[in-house]
Formats: sequence, C-alpha cells, structure tokens
Amino acid sequence: IGGEFEDDEADLAPRPPVVTVMGHVDHGKTRLLDAIRKTNVQAREAGGITQHVGAYQVSHEHEGVVRDITFIDTPGHETFTAMRARGAKTTDIVILVVAADDGVMPQTIEALNHAQAADVPIVVAVNKIDKPGADPTKARGQLTEYGLVAEEYGGDTMFVDVSALSGIGIDDLLEAVLLTADASLELVANPTADARGTAIEARLDRGRGPVATVLVQRGTLRVGDSIVCGDAFGRVRALLDENGDPIEFAGPSRPAQVLGLTSVPGAGDTFLVAPEDRIARQIAERRQAAERNAQLAKSRKRVSLEDFLERSKVETLNLILKGDVSGSVEALEDALLQLDVGEEVDLRIIDRGVGAITENNVMLAVASDAVIIGFNVRPEGKARELAEREGVDVRYYSVIYQAIDEVEAALKGLLKPEYEEVQLGTAEIREVYRSSKFGNIAGCLVRSGEIRRNSKARLIRDGVVVGDNLSIGSLRRFKDDATEVREGFECGIGLGSFNDIKVDDVIETFEMREKPRV
Ligand code: GDP
Repeated sequence: IGGEFEDDEADLAPRPPVVTVMGHVDHGKTRLLDAIRKTNVQAREAGGITQHVGAYQVSHEHEGVVRDITFIDTPGHETFTAMRARGAKTTDIVILVVAADDGVMPQTIEALNHAQAADVPIVVAVNKIDKPGADPTKARGQLTEYGLVAEEYGGDTMFVDVSALSGIGIDDLLEAVLLTADASLELVANPTADARGTAIEARLDRGRGPVATVLVQRGTLRVGDSIVCGDAFGRVRALLDENGDPIEFAGPSRPAQVLGLTSVPGAGDTFLVAPEDRIARQIAERRQAAERNAQLAKSRKRVSLEDFLERSKVETLNLILKGDVSGSVEALEDALLQLDVGEEVDLRIIDRGVGAITENNVMLAVASDAVIIGFNVRPEGKARELAEREGVDVRYYSVIYQAIDEVEAALKGLLKPEYEEVQLGTAEIREVYRSSKFGNIAGCLVRSGEIRRNSKARLIRDGVVVGDNLSIGSLRRFKDDATEVREGFECGIGLGSFNDIKVDDVIETFEMREKPRV
C-alpha cells in the first residue's frame, strides 16, 4: 500500500502531504508538534482541547490558497520505521528537528539515515532559536557533511529557524513543507475509490470500544463502510476528527478516528473497505490464520545472507554497519564502498554507528531489507531476539578483511546469472497424426543431436520460426514413452497445446544453461 494503486489518471486529485517529525531526544519534537497544532486550533476556535490521537491535520495559506498538511503526531523515527517494516509507507516528508544550541547529535544522524533509507525528502527545523546564544548556522554547517545542504549554501534542502516555545517560524516551516512537496513530490490520490490506508494508532476506549486512528491514503472512508484493518474488522459506526468532532467521511491524507471495529488493530496495519460485512470478517479471519502461520514459520527459519539475497532477488544490497570504535566503522565503510561489484548491483550503506546493535538497527534492517554487519559488537537487550524473529541477517566479524570478502562474495552471487541457449537437437516432421489425448502428434526423424522430453522447443517452417517457447510435452518410440531419442531414430512428438504442425516442419530443441562466470 502507499500509492501504487491502479487508478485512472483522470481520477487522481492532489492530496495533502503527510509529515513525520524526527530528531535527537530533547531537541523539541513533541513541543514542535504541539506548537504546530496549537497555532491552527487557535485560529479556528479558542481553547480547543488537544488530545493526542496519533495524527492531525492543519491548514496553511500558500500563495493565496488554503492547503492542508497532515502530521503524524508520534515523534521519532522508531514509529516511522516500525511502520515501514510492516510495509506501510505513510510519510511523504520528514521534518528533522535540530536544536540550535546542541547542533547535530547521534540521533539526528540516525533519524536522517532512516529518512534517507526511505527516500523521503527532509525539511530541517533549526529549533530553540529563542535561546540566548543559539547559533542557527551551526546545524547548517554540520548537516552539509551528511548531504543536507541548505538552499542558502547552494543546496536544495530547506532549513527553517523556529522556536517551538514561542511559535516563531512555524508558519515558515509549514510553507517550507508545501514548497518541498511541490518541488519534489507529486502527491495525488483517487478520492472516489473505496478507501485504503494505514492505522497510525489504536487503543481500547472504555466507553467506545476499539478506536483506531487511520490515515486514508486512497479513496474516501465513510460512516457505514465495512472495513478490515490488519486482522480486525467491523463496520464504521462513527468517524471523528482529531478534536473528537464527528465527520461523515475522510478523503486522501485525512486522519480519522474509526469507531466500530471488533478488536484493536496494530499501528502500521493497513485497512481497506470490503464490499460487505461478511467479506470483511472472512478477510480478517484469513489474516489471523496467516499471521499465526507466519509466526510459526519465522520461529523456525534461519536465514543466511545468501538465502536472503536469493529469496528477495534484490539488486540492491543494503547494509547497516556497527562497530566497536569509529575508526573501524569508517575503515569498513571505505573498503566496502570501494568494492568493484559491477554496475548491476548497488551497494548502499544505509546506517552506520558505534556501539551495540540496537532494536532500532534491526527495525531499520527489516524496513529496508538490509543485512547488519557487526564488527566486534553484538546485539543488545532484545535486539537479538527481534532479529531472529524478523529473520534479519546479522553477521559478526572481528577481522575487517573477512567482512569485506564475505560481502564481496554475496554481491557476486547477487549478480543475476546470465543464461545461454544450448541446442540439443533437431527433428524433421514426416507425418502428422491426430490424437484425442495429446492433440496433434508429429511423426519425426531425429536429424541431429537428441530430442529430450520436457526440453524447450521451437517450430521452424521454411527457415522461419512459427512457434517459440514450446516444450516437448510427449515423446514416444512406437507405443512407448521415451525420455530421449537420438539422431537417426524415429519418434512421435507432441508439443503440448501447440497444434499448428505440418509435414516438413523442423522441431528444434534446446535448453537454457547458466553461463559460467569469469
Ligand atoms: P523531544 O524529546 O524532541 O520531543 O523534545 P521536547 O519537545 O520534549 O522538548 C525538550 C525540552 O526542550 C523541553 O523542556 C522543551 O520545553 C524545550 N524546548 C523545546 N522547544 C524549545 C524551544 O523552541 N525553545 C526553548 N527555549 N526550549 C524548547
């Protein structure tokens, strides 16, 4: 889910951007989300109670037009990546908060890595600009090293100075979000279709039962719709906006609280509208069963780097590097980036850092199909368990060259094998018989090589291929099935459902063999 639906171009309409706020702890993410929401609530009605429900929408006047922006009201990259790990792409733009006094800190970089791994454009909010001695140029300078170059320095990332405390710059920040969306994203969705989207947060309310805040990503969700959300289902009894006011429907990028589900879905679960209650229930029950099976399978599986690559058939190998000291992480990164892996494979190091492998690293690996390389480090706390449960490949090394050799070997295996055609034999058609069981059968004389059952074949008439991608479905010598018939012998050949065969046609058989690599 996330936009790749089959919609007619004509049905697509612009939709608001969806924003997640990330950054180092205490740099003001929560405060900023409050400030953004408060500015807007005050504009509409004084003193509206603001309850945190996981997402809200604000409006901002941009070039004379009032436009909406949706905010995911759960700060931090943990939720962002946990959702991505579940296959939900909810965020269009990341606001990276950096406190002007502190500057770039470890989690700033971590957040940035998560956003970049997801290919989501970043707007930087330099916060706490009200503080005496705050230096707004510090963060700008530091972030250039990580590829975020401020517009005023000739780059294409928007940096906005803000104070979440006093409200300075909030409007400019909203403006920057819309400008960035317009410049680098084409945000459209079909509002007329049945709704689909993602649950952002869900809870059990004492009076109302399960309440899920969902983000509609396509179509329009209406009161009365039957929905499936993860393995929960139900009929929408009421829709509420972020202020708890009832609404009749919610279109693309609109967050809404859904009442009427029979159980509480998980954050990151996708939802869709079913044609009727019964079908919603069936889908939910099937998902519950599938989930149980998946859990079972996961607990049994042991994945290797090679299996992983084989299974996912990726052409990009994403790596997360963790090491005991920064020197070894850098050395490893340099060496890996210098590997000559040809043009077919893309090696991306999506995160690196010093210290134990964290749960966060594992979540990022799940979300990005990455392999984790641990150099003289091990997973901390629950990270090992999580990696095992999610089937993430974590490799441990204490010698840099060993790590490099293994990655190189894996990358070579990643190169798609090239196949070449090897001719097996040719047969000339002498007669054509009709068989009720096999269709038309060619009575042949094998002219060269041999004819093998199940091998690939093509039919040639007067030197022109008239049937390709066929296979030798049946092969007989007299009345008996044969597995192969050699040059100089007669046989009966059936080409499966292909019946356009004539006397004097030639059947050519071949097989595809993997080309040896040099
Ligand atoms: P989070 O951990 O990133 O969510 O940070 P918080 O929003 O909880 O803010 C951390 C601390 O910084 C709190 O004490 C806030 O009051 C303070 N803070 C946040 N924004 C500003 C700001 O713009 N100016 C000042 N002076 N303090 C701020």
